[in-house]
Amino acid sequence: MVQKMGQCYKVSVIGGGTAGLVAARELQREGHHVTVFEKANRVGGTWLYDPRVETDPLGIDPNREIVHTSLYKSLRVNLPRQVMGFLDYPFLKKDGGDPRHFPGHQEVLRFLEDFARDFGLMELIRFEHEVVRVELVDEASHEWVVESRTRTTESKWESKEEIFEAVVICNGKSTEPKIAEFSGRDIWPGLQMHSHNYRTSEQFENKTVVLIGNGPSAVDILREIAPLAKQVHQAVRGPNFKLKRLEKHDNAWQHSMIECAHKDGKLVFQDGSIVYADVIIHCTGYKYHCPFLKSNGIVTVDDNRVGPLYKHVFPPSLAPWLSFVGLNYKAVPAITIELQAKWVAKVVSGKLGLPTQAAMTYSVEEFYREMERKGWPKHHTHNLLYNEFEYIEWVARELDIRPPNWWKNITYESHVKMLRYYGSEYRDAWDIDEWMLEMNSPNFSTP
Ligand code: FAD
Repeated sequence: MVQKMGQCYKVSVIGGGTAGLVAARELQREGHHVTVFEKANRVGGTWLYDPRVETDPLGIDPNREIVHTSLYKSLRVNLPRQVMGFLDYPFLKKDGGDPRHFPGHQEVLRFLEDFARDFGLMELIRFEHEVVRVELVDEASHEWVVESRTRTTESKWESKEEIFEAVVICNGKSTEPKIAEFSGRDIWPGLQMHSHNYRTSEQFENKTVVLIGNGPSAVDILREIAPLAKQVHQAVRGPNFKLKRLEKHDNAWQHSMIECAHKDGKLVFQDGSIVYADVIIHCTGYKYHCPFLKSNGIVTVDDNRVGPLYKHVFPPSLAPWLSFVGLNYKAVPAITIELQAKWVAKVVSGKLGLPTQAAMTYSVEEFYREMERKGWPKHHTHNLLYNEFEYIEWVARELDIRPPNWWKNITYESHVKMLRYYGSEYRDAWDIDEWMLEMNSPNFSTP
């Protein structure tokens, strides 16, 4: 079917988290008829704290009942609120809210709820509707069937199929745990869990805990459990990590990665150190999961590579009628998601064009070849750590938008540097006001 400039389509958005809400707003601004499917009973996605944990604490049993969010109760944001808002809708302090620059998670949920209300998005959302199938039924007319189910009683579901002309997938990427691999993992007798199922610290009182990972969750959880645990040992991958006691704690140590685990509870690290532990917490990140997409093998998820996707958003042969928003990580999420959502909405309207299918396919293949040349593993396909700057600039140029000054200095990489510089107290030590003033001054130029 020929796409006409400015034409409005029936578009389905899957997910009512940050990405789904922004995508819905942008599509609505373009005049499309938008329906958002959200399996929870509120908006917010990740930011909708849920005290429940999954029946399998490691999160590998495919039959477990899935809890979407990975938030722990005490979580404070790890980026300043100044960079968590949207270009025309900043994440401001509100009366009765949490005024901190790095507020608690409840403040983000409130921000997203306000955003949804202020842009009239609530009316577009089908709450408690889980999408179980998205399938292309007619390539020529790009008709997609979206099958959703909703619970009518404790054990009964009602299913419904609807037809849409375009589908935007915004189902999140931080729910399906990725687990560390080491010999003896399956015979080790203690409790193993993933940080996805960590909520509060009490259960670790007087326990010897090994935490795997060095990301924001590992740093937070370590700080939270160290005061009541007997000992905490952090296992970190990479040549630079060797046995040392961690500053600010007299019962916490850093090690290299776990080499092997034994039946008697012993854990041997690559640096040769040995610990008998009660618990291992895998703070090892997530893998993307999209069980409802039936694309006849056109779009696959392989080792966390969703592909082929032109610029992480459009599968060349299905563009612009299928798109993904929010797949990237190690990038500042709000601006990445917002620019992707604006791009999708304008491309669906025909106001912005895409290269030919062959050119998009070539671009994706060239990107994969470049990854190979640089030795980047496949699972880093959507990791923007090393090219966030170029990527955001590229999408912004397509949209004819100038990214704000602050952005150039708070790419994910610069945030990691701040974390290293200030240590685990970075949220309160970093003078954001002064920093923002400097960033936004007309004389400021990026290095
Ligand atoms: P999500 O928020 O996960 O939303 C996806 C939505 O899709 C959910 O509402 C889900 O219910 C719905 N859904 C999924 N499958 C279906 C289906 N089949 N049918 C219907 N609905 C479905 N970012 C920051 O900017 N600052 C931070 O400080 C920060 N801290 C974080 C801390 C943790 C522990 C984690 C995990 C992430 C953090 N992030 C942070 C990243 C955060 O995830 C993103 O900023 C953003 O919230 C992602 O939004 P999303 O819409 O892509 O995904």
